Amino acid sequence: MKEPTIITFLGTGGGRFATIYQKRATGGIYIRDSLNIHIDPGPGALVKMLEAGLNPRATNGILVSHAHPDHYTDAEILMEGMTCGCTQKRGLFAGSKSVIKGEGSIGPTISRYHQSIIERVEVVHPGDSFYFGDLEITAGKSLHSDPTTVGFNLITKNGQISYIPDTAFHEDIIPYYKGARVLILSNTRPLNHRIPYHLATEDSAHIIEAIEPELALLTHIGYKMAVNSPEKEGEWITEHTGIRTLTAEDFMNVVLSESDLTIRGG
Ligand SMILES: [Zn+2]
Ligand SMILES: [Zn+2]
Repeated sequence: MKEPTIITFLGTGGGRFATIYQKRATGGIYIRDSLNIHIDPGPGALVKMLEAGLNPRATNGILVSHAHPDHYTDAEILMEGMTCGCTQKRGLFAGSKSVIKGEGSIGPTISRYHQSIIERVEVVHPGDSFYFGDLEITAGKSLHSDPTTVGFNLITKNGQISYIPDTAFHEDIIPYYKGARVLILSNTRPLNHRIPYHLATEDSAHIIEAIEPELALLTHIGYKMAVNSPEKEGEWITEHTGIRTLTAEDFMNVVLSESDLTIRGG
């Protein structure tokens, strides 16, 4: 019997105003599998992690999709946690080119010093694939105002977990996330309120229909969606696609085993 894989939402907010006013937390997503991976640790990630009872020293890898503050601001302090206060060169830091090297006027967002304390730093582009221990990580495409933005697929021992970051809707991004058992989408905007470079509920529904995950989760909820019954957006997608879709909640846990998928907390 394999150990379950646990996905914890350390925040489900995103976009400028939901972040500035902390309408929802913005600590990213923490995945415990054979290794512990933290994706997109935005403002408050460290605090939310401690509130959730997770130890920053137990993190093995940090993944950052792009160089916007709701995705990267707590990364450096969490890198200090991962390296036991910078005393042990360990762990993985993987991110878009903008985050690690800089792209035009964007980034880099991680100091050279913090990059130097990590054992392995990977700049990833859409379509890249690499192993970290026995965990395979692949990068997906996005169409965002940071042109180097990447999504991530983690091939865990209990199936593929895919994270679609901030992106405009386009059919071209869908193939990069095929095979997801659990699909997490940055659905910043509610139904019929699309803005450039972000997904609205109708866009997420198209993607979910094409990928057919066992469970889809909406996160990175913007202000307008956060104050207007966000749970309705997941319900609308479930009704229109027949695929179980939930609007994630702060501190929600999804527990994945080979045969089972359960939701706890939130
Ligand atoms: Zn964002
Ligand atoms: Zn963004």
